[in-house]
Amino acid sequence: MKLLEGKNVIITGASRGIGKGIAQVFGQHGANVAFTYSSSEAPALELEKELSSMGVKAKAYKSNAASFSESEELVAKVLEDFDGIDVLINNAGITKDNLLMRMGEEDFDKVIEINLKSVFNMTKAVQRTMLKQRKGSIINMSSVVGVKGNAGQANYAASKAGMIGFTKSVALEIGSRNIRCNAIAPGFIETEMTDKLDEKTVQGWRESIPLKRGGSPEDVANACLFLASDLSAYVTGQVLNVDGGMLT
Ligand code: NAP
Repeated sequence: MKLLEGKNVIITGASRGIGKGIAQVFGQHGANVAFTYSSSEAPALELEKELSSMGVKAKAYKSNAASFSESEELVAKVLEDFDGIDVLINNAGITKDNLLMRMGEEDFDKVIEINLKSVFNMTKAVQRTMLKQRKGSIINMSSVVGVKGNAGQANYAASKAGMIGFTKSVALEIGSRNIRCNAIAPGFIETEMTDKLDEKTVQGWRESIPLKRGGSPEDVANACLFLASDLSAYVTGQVLNVDGGMLT
């Protein structure tokens, strides 16, 4: 059964990793996918082709999620190219890890702008359309680190915890218009973001996970599929951990 047949979806940061996995699973479920990237043009165009070959509409847009004006322009373009917006997935994110002692102001600001301010930018930009439709699902890619904290990631943890507060507040504000807003808190997912970690740290993560493995982009994409589709029609303001039991 195709769970998102004919739905129009925007995913930020889908040129690789979790965002790409979401785009692929959503395409398989019949969704039309508009997605963004920051600099990886060739992989983004490749994904656009792959999705189009599934028989859905797909388009890649270069857009900086940290920019309010670019986010507004992006949504205007998507509305010209697609017929409405049913689902927004705020997925774009970066890390700039360091102990607080060594963390510079620039690395704090950059992570907050790209991970958290972007969620404000994009949610504001789609809000009017979803309010008019009286229907929508917004999914914010937080992290277990936003719930639990992590040494060396004060900037990242602050951004991801901020996303959870934002998610719950927006869910309260627009639930009466049938717009749902939820967050996903992935644990250790094997992507280019986690490739940066040294093997000893990675092994430590794997051993600490009850399911004894890192997650895949598809694991996260399947949780997004639930939250994007009508299967979760009565679920809003929640944080769904996709972490192999890490926070248990
Ligand atoms: P990734 O492999 O590093 O991919 C990041 C994606 O975000 C890329 O498509 C990148 O585009 C895009 N991006 C970066 N800055 C952007 C900007 N300013 N505007 C628009 N797009 C931008 O990361 P990932 O592991 O898939 O992570 C995806 C999300 O899941 C992030 O929010 C991350 O914090 C969260 N998460 C990941 C894990 C994990 O273990 N991997 C765990 C918990 C949460 P380019 O390719 O063009 O740079």
